[in-house]
Amino acid sequence: MNHPWTRKLIDLREQGLYRHLTVASGPQDTILKVQGKSVLNFSSNDYLGLAHHPALIEASIAATQTWGTGTGASRLITGSQSLHSELETELASFKRVERALLFNSGYHANLGVIQALESPVIFSDELNHASLIDGCRLSKAKVLVYRHNDMDHLASLMTGNPGGLIVTDSVFSMDGDVCPLRELMALAEKHDARLFVDEAHATGVFGPTGRGLVEESGIDPKHPRLIQMGTLGKALGSFGAYVAGSNDLIDWLINRARTFIFTTSLPPSVTAASLAAIRMIRNDTSLKDRLWENTRFFLDGLKQVTIGKVAPTTSPIIPLVIGSADDTVRLSDSLFACGIWAHPIRPPTVPDGTSRLRFTLMATHTREQLQGCLDALKAS
Ligand SMILES: *Cc1c(COP(=O)(O)O)cnc(C)c1O
Repeated sequence: MNHPWTRKLIDLREQGLYRHLTVASGPQDTILKVQGKSVLNFSSNDYLGLAHHPALIEASIAATQTWGTGTGASRLITGSQSLHSELETELASFKRVERALLFNSGYHANLGVIQALESPVIFSDELNHASLIDGCRLSKAKVLVYRHNDMDHLASLMTGNPGGLIVTDSVFSMDGDVCPLRELMALAEKHDARLFVDEAHATGVFGPTGRGLVEESGIDPKHPRLIQMGTLGKALGSFGAYVAGSNDLIDWLINRARTFIFTTSLPPSVTAASLAAIRMIRNDTSLKDRLWENTRFFLDGLKQVTIGKVAPTTSPIIPLVIGSADDTVRLSDSLFACGIWAHPIRPPTVPDGTSRLRFTLMATHTREQLQGCLDALKAS
């Protein structure tokens, strides 16, 4: 039988847009074992190198021995354990808000929260992460998309549309730039709106103590118009996500967020690893500091690379824009052959003609590894 997707798969291959899985045979690290060889990893969101840190592994094993492997139910039935509450208390204190609520992933959080907020109108940055876009689609709101970080455009859309919700990445995942949080908050105040900020790539990375872009921007985390989410699977080396805000907000989400209500809760191994990660980064910013040193070193080295164009990033996400999907895949393949994994990012993840290699740096990259990647790029 000929399925409609059989032909479409052939089209994808012809357009250089075909996606496949590349499978590693060891833990997430700066060096990955792939297809029997070792490659340098420049495509991880494990910014602080915590995904196989001994402290997280130990906490995870200990929790499994005490609590078992699964929770057996959703949070509202029998699946709420004191480990979840402990992590939520820790997250609320870390983010300096009244309360936090766990979700099973950032994707779940964004779908659930945006829908539950029941805003009549949502203002969404055009480069927002797919999970925010899908959250907007699932909500019944009128969605107005503003040009990337364009505050004049946003202001014009908000005029005459009070009571809305602004939705934005704090660090844009494919471009590495950040949103103008203070200006967004000023517009939210002016137009009686709320501001929902996705700190997926900022948690553990931005702010003097890793609390995110809200901290870096000097915004009061308890601001009544602010709702924050962040993920535990990126810099925190674990899995899952949190929403941080007021008591009332969290109570409302427990009652209304469908992606919180209708899913089995996070397992003890994961919850305990997240707790260990938060406790570690709260007391020690040395990993974050090293990540930023690596970022500065790599950006400086890229000045001597003539291929592509480095996007104006302000984070450890460093896109080298090549243009066509085909050229980008070819360059990625040739780097891979030299032992460097820099993943090609193509439409529909990014707009047509802006395909790119997206380098993400880790605190645990050594200078030699960074230099090796730069040298390979210079030789490309
Ligand atoms: C990764 C990411 C998410 C999704 O988080 P998961 O926990 O991986 O589901 C949401 N928003 C942004 C901006 C992200 O980069």
